[in-house]
Amino acid sequence: MQTQLADFIRDSVEGREADAILRKCVHCGFCTATCPTYQVLGDDLDSPRGRIYLMKRVLEGAPVSGRTRLHLDRCLTCRACETTCPSGVRYGRLVDIGRAVVEARTRRGSWDRAKRASLSFFLPRTGLFGAALGLGRLVRPLLPGRLKKAVLPSRPRGTWPPPRHARKMLVLAGCVQPALAPSINAAAARVLDGVGISLVEAPSAGCCGAVRFHLNRQEAGRDDMRALIDAWWPLVESGSVEAIVMTASGCGATVKEYAHFLREDAHYRDKAERIASLTRDLCEVLEPQAMPLVENAGRVAFQSPCSLQHGQQLRGRVEVLLARAGFELTPVDDAHLCCGSAGAYSLLQPELSGELRLRKLRALHEGAPARIATANIGCLAHLQAGTTTPVMHWIELLDEALRRKMTA
Ligand code: SF4
Ligand code: SF4
Repeated sequence: MQTQLADFIRDSVEGREADAILRKCVHCGFCTATCPTYQVLGDDLDSPRGRIYLMKRVLEGAPVSGRTRLHLDRCLTCRACETTCPSGVRYGRLVDIGRAVVEARTRRGSWDRAKRASLSFFLPRTGLFGAALGLGRLVRPLLPGRLKKAVLPSRPRGTWPPPRHARKMLVLAGCVQPALAPSINAAAARVLDGVGISLVEAPSAGCCGAVRFHLNRQEAGRDDMRALIDAWWPLVESGSVEAIVMTASGCGATVKEYAHFLREDAHYRDKAERIASLTRDLCEVLEPQAMPLVENAGRVAFQSPCSLQHGQQLRGRVEVLLARAGFELTPVDDAHLCCGSAGAYSLLQPELSGELRLRKLRALHEGAPARIATANIGCLAHLQAGTTTPVMHWIELLDEALRRKMTA
């Protein structure tokens, strides 16, 4: 489409990038068919095509209102539209630019600002989040229904094998995952230990930056990215780790794009590129043929997070690993659609998020699975709050099946 960006942005890095993206969109509307918010709300302004149109107008200098911001806030950043788009429109990058401009030109209400400020302060700090979660677990029986469901019971970590192999990989601990489910990284360490790889965590490594970046505190998010690079750098620079493993696909999608996020930072640009090039989702590290074959491990429905299938374009790998570990995968309709978790989205847009979870759980339960597997802690917590069927990270299931085989 034709564009005429306004002076305030035309000659900036963001302006040039947005212009190139906008010009690729031919307004065909194919993307509306796979947009979860359009499916629920039926409003073109809550579809990728409509949001692209809104952002074009904003970048061309049109007035910005709270309505414009609302349509962008309702977007899950699931990037299903990128997978669908035949013209290769990089919607995710455009919405980052559009949101920053809209945020700077509008003022949110005080309740909205307070909510966002507290999430931005609280979520990336594992200690604080863990303390609140611990308290929530203590008083869980007394909590009202919805809150009670949101407080996940503890998932003990189990043993973490000592580093004994020549092959070593770093694993991101992350921010909320160590508090919610320390069992996930420990399970990954045990499974990788079994195939000759030692997994290590860097002591001071924290949030990947996604939480604050997607709360539209983009510079604070970049600070988190720089801090994580600093924490990893000694191990990366010394060459003692061959890869950086992500057990949360949301973090993986972010870290793989560090070179983009920090492209304007002369001090961190090269380091960011190196970190991104070493980053792998856990399902990219495990070779199915290296895994022992297991039989009859049970029926499982796999929920492929958007950050895995759209953000990282990784499809089908986890399913192959689960099948190898003896799980029977049940069919899941509309597997390309978001479950409504999307980082802090479930807390900021509870109604839309709840509707999407309802639809996703209906599809997941269709094949009567004994358990649900996922690849992202946010999706895990969000889905578990809506069902009594156990929701686990796929690596926990794999670890369990392999251990059962060893003791059989
Ligand atoms: S983003 Fe892609 S699919 Fe959607 S309207 Fe533009 S060109 Fe068509
Ligand atoms: S990122 Fe997801 S919710 Fe946002 S416009 Fe694209 S498909 Fe719709």
